[in-house]
Amino acid sequence: MSVQLGMPLPPTGDGTGSSVSAPPPRPAGTPPGLFDRYGRRATDMRLSLTDKCNLRCTYCMPAEGLEWLSKQAVMTAAEIVRLVRIGVEQLGVRELRLTGGEPLVRADLVDVISALRDAHPDLPISMTTNGVGLDKKAAALKEAGLTRINVSLDSLHEETFTKLTRRPFLGKVLAGVDAAWAAGLGPVKINAVLMRGINDVESPELLAWALDRGYELRFIEQMPLDADHGWTRRDMITAAEIRELLSRDFVLSPDPRERDGAPAERFDVRRRDPASAEAAGPLLGTVGIIASVTEPFCSDCRRTRITAEGKIMSCLFSREEFDLLGLLRSGASDAELAQRWQDAMWIKPKAHGMDHTGLGAPDFVQPDRSMSAIGG
Ligand code: SAM
Ligand code: SF4
Repeated sequence: MSVQLGMPLPPTGDGTGSSVSAPPPRPAGTPPGLFDRYGRRATDMRLSLTDKCNLRCTYCMPAEGLEWLSKQAVMTAAEIVRLVRIGVEQLGVRELRLTGGEPLVRADLVDVISALRDAHPDLPISMTTNGVGLDKKAAALKEAGLTRINVSLDSLHEETFTKLTRRPFLGKVLAGVDAAWAAGLGPVKINAVLMRGINDVESPELLAWALDRGYELRFIEQMPLDADHGWTRRDMITAAEIRELLSRDFVLSPDPRERDGAPAERFDVRRRDPASAEAAGPLLGTVGIIASVTEPFCSDCRRTRITAEGKIMSCLFSREEFDLLGLLRSGASDAELAQRWQDAMWIKPKAHGMDHTGLGAPDFVQPDRSMSAIGG
């Protein structure tokens, strides 16, 4: 199918984030592509389809409130397709992840994916979702051309799930994971954030559950991206603690495969023999740990982000966002859009500095926006 551009929409400018309209030009002679001053090149595009969500995870959104963007401020399907095309054809984007907010709440999600697939038959297109409603849409998403899926799931217990997400939807998420698997959206990856005293003790159970079903579980260190600004370095569960928690039941050994810019450090998993404390039995699968805070991978970061209202963020923790959608809506050419995107990426920070918070070097400032509004 093809997406038609409707009437031109007015430029955006809704005051979210610390938006600066145009970055300074990057040095003349820099080759085409999303390079930065430190020699990195972004090839992995994260695109947020909406800032809206139907859950209220404590580490992401406030219990109530958080004004949504207006419909008009959010990129249309045709605008998304155009920006992705520029990224792929002119700037070297090699994979695309759709995120949010919650992508499944976007009514035209299947059409967006279908249009992206028509334009890029070979592009890996993945999506991160909370899984609510996925049971009804998984087959259509596969049919439209989605390559694979990550579902976020922090607990297998109704009470804990509801405490973490503030919504009683565990059954819906589990049905969504099953449907994704049945639809062939594998390898299905499960994202889990551990919160001290809430679901940290459940980590071996989550891993056993994922291994039994052939899902790849990835634990993500909690980052200071919650709307409530309640994150503390002391309370977060670190990657070292996660390995320790898992080692009660499992033996982890580094996955020999090349990491190749992946955020997750992967480990092969075997059962621990309770009698000898050694590994027992065959390889059961792998587990990933995304240690963005305590073992950051900024020097090998390959990501470029576009928020739902079309702003370029060179880093999750950027305090400057550059408006691409406003430029597009003002009638800019592909070359002008590519130029702004490249200029914005050129000044990508060297590192986020998150691990300095509260450790005597308070040079890290939490972004104003929550993870749901940026697009994780
Ligand atoms: N709503 C979808 C979901 O939850 O999968 C997609 C967007 S969500 C922002 C993307 C991922 O970010 C989820 O796996 C979620 O667990 C993770 N996330 C959200 N807030 C986080 C935080 N403060 N620290 C670490 N991960 C976070
Ligand atoms: Fe929504 Fe995802 Fe944030 Fe949870 S993590 S509140 S599901 S955007």
